[in-house]
Amino acid sequence: MPNVLWLEEIKKEDIISVGGKGASLGEMTAIGLPVPKAFVVTAQAFRRFLIETGIEEELFRRLERLDVDDNGALESVSREVQDIVLAAEMPDQIRQEIVEAYARMGADGTVVAVRSSATAEDLPDASFAGQQETFLNILGETDLLDAVQRCWASLYGARAIYYRAKQGFDDRSVNIAVVVQELIGSEKSGVMFTSHPVTGEPLTIVEGSWGLGEAVVSGSVSPDNYVFDLRSGRVVDRLIAEKEIMIIPEGRHGTKTVNLSAKQRTAPVLSDAEVARLATLGKIAEDHYDIPQDVEWAIVGDDVFILQSRPITTIKRPEIPHGGAAGQQKGVLGVVLVEGQGASPGVASGRVVIVRDVKDTSAVKDGDILVTKMTNPDMVPAMRRVSAIVTDEGGMTCHAAIVSRELGTPAVVGTKKATKLLKDGQIVTVDGEKGLIYDGAVQAPAPAAPAVAPAAAAAAPVITGTLVKVNVSLPEAAQRAAATGADGVGLLRIEHLILGLAKTPGWYIENGEEETFIAELYGGIKTVLDAFPGKPVWVRTLDAPTDEFRNMEGGENEPIEHNPMLGWRGIRRDLRSPDQFRLQVEAFKRLWAAGYNNLGLMFPMVNHPNEFVKARAMMKEWGVDVENATLGVMIEIPSSAILIEDFIRAGIRFASFGTNDLIQYTLAIDRNNEHVADMYQPKHPAVLRLIDYAIGVCRENGVECSICGQAGSDPDMVTWLVEHGISSVSANIDAVPRIREAVARKEQQILLDAARRNA
Ligand code: PEP
Ligand code: MG
Repeated sequence: MPNVLWLEEIKKEDIISVGGKGASLGEMTAIGLPVPKAFVVTAQAFRRFLIETGIEEELFRRLERLDVDDNGALESVSREVQDIVLAAEMPDQIRQEIVEAYARMGADGTVVAVRSSATAEDLPDASFAGQQETFLNILGETDLLDAVQRCWASLYGARAIYYRAKQGFDDRSVNIAVVVQELIGSEKSGVMFTSHPVTGEPLTIVEGSWGLGEAVVSGSVSPDNYVFDLRSGRVVDRLIAEKEIMIIPEGRHGTKTVNLSAKQRTAPVLSDAEVARLATLGKIAEDHYDIPQDVEWAIVGDDVFILQSRPITTIKRPEIPHGGAAGQQKGVLGVVLVEGQGASPGVASGRVVIVRDVKDTSAVKDGDILVTKMTNPDMVPAMRRVSAIVTDEGGMTCHAAIVSRELGTPAVVGTKKATKLLKDGQIVTVDGEKGLIYDGAVQAPAPAAPAVAPAAAAAAPVITGTLVKVNVSLPEAAQRAAATGADGVGLLRIEHLILGLAKTPGWYIENGEEETFIAELYGGIKTVLDAFPGKPVWVRTLDAPTDEFRNMEGGENEPIEHNPMLGWRGIRRDLRSPDQFRLQVEAFKRLWAAGYNNLGLMFPMVNHPNEFVKARAMMKEWGVDVENATLGVMIEIPSSAILIEDFIRAGIRFASFGTNDLIQYTLAIDRNNEHVADMYQPKHPAVLRLIDYAIGVCRENGVECSICGQAGSDPDMVTWLVEHGISSVSANIDAVPRIREAVARKEQQILLDAARRNA
């Protein structure tokens, strides 16, 4: 390992050599963040220094004998050991390499900051931050070498020795690297949290002040505070503080504090554009590290620099209380009785009705709060009446979550014990965004004023190259879905329509009621097609697992499956129940015949191209002009992503990621099981790799590639998908505006980057 490494040469794995700070700067440089030029004097250089100067044994012997609880001894040993380090002469080779690196930084010597980077620093379980020295405003090689040696000595400051001893670190195994970085003569600087540091909401909090960042970091000035909403891409709150002082570089070594002029005191430090730029850079860091970051930044003229980025460790979701007074806790609006996943946004208060069985739904009155283990299709009529829905089980893609979002009803799912903790008749307030259920009818704060007046938004629709479509499950939601201005329907789930009939398809067949079934299906789909004239509507063939059919009339004939998720559902069931498939195809045929050319068909749960080929052949046999029909598949099983090229050869016109299932089948995480809900990771690298691969193959072959799983309603995920070339996305009704905005933003960024590259 060399004595000196430039940021561009550093890889993540080099943390042992360059410490947390050095590794983080190297990584930030690698992902393209504007980090000021720097090199690192490696931990190996420090080790060589200890060995080659012969001070190593003496130094560690003194430390080993020390009782760190004896304050006097701690102070004096610390001083002695630091003196040993400072008095030793730096070996020539190391000295020379530092001097050479410094010379490469700039012709007449550059002003640098010299920062310690202990090799366990900033690791999640051992933060040594702030325990070693930093020297700002260093100019010239003599002072630089001196500062490096002072950083080394600071590894043995009293506080650092004490901390390491208490944390169980062996002094011999802790190293120090030194970052030598061009000092940015910041005109403005500060810190930002890339997400809300308490709630984790996508709100970037930027604090800024005049001059060097030390003023904000040390707390010696009250900075301006800006809140940037990553969802709307706007500054939603700003507090311009009275800033008394600023810290500026002084002389050859240090800094000084100066009083601000009356004008500067109250002037905003940042423009909205600067806040937005900072938030964008913060987001890059957060996305890269996959955890919200605490970032130090600086601005000089038009140049923005990122100085440091560390994970925020304060974001904590409150623990789920165990019930009773002791388990209660204060939320933003009052006492939180129970918590789960916020599955459908909105806040509503009402009377709890516990529904243990579909029979209980007769007790549900308009405006009640429906609390149940898990909703099922026969509860949909009751779900339409209530003001909020709470379930014990399920995750973001369960029945309750999908239907609630569609109905626009607030819902919290996966609370594990709402049916036990809440009582019939109790008044509660449900926050469907945060996933909290409060005691009593608490007042929700007035929603923040929309950043753009709705009328203005409607007058100026955002046009995106990537189509933004909407998901529909209930025909009654078609008008609301169309009002979003979506570019079509990327998924119409017909099982909700069929499950709402209260009789299984098998019942209609056995009882000679085929026409009734076809007419119901025809009518429901037609309602949606009528709401989207001239826009594509992809209708999915039936995909109901056997357990969802069981409560319906005819359901007694459904097989009992050990694991219905992996069982007889989707296209595999239709292929083996030709009558059930034929009735659906009959409804589609009639719709095509009625002139609905915008109707496309999508087969769910395909795992081999043969299933597509077989389904198409059956349709042809039943008189469908399959050559001219828009037929596609869902990609919900890893096998269908892996075999995408074969599907394309088999003749699919489009493919759509059903990430709800793709995630569960890739990761072996049951999407409806709240016990593993925290392990259900849409951005798991394996899921992303499957998606990336399938998009690439679709693009090469000119086949439309889309997403209709819940991940298509997540702006971050959609940003990633647009970047990776997806041709359309389909989101829940409530998510369409923010998804359209995320798509537009990413597209603009791609265009801008291309323009800059070609400039
Ligand atoms: C999916 O699996 O992502 C999907 C959209 O289908 P469903 O949620 O109906 O299984
Ligand atoms: Mg699915």
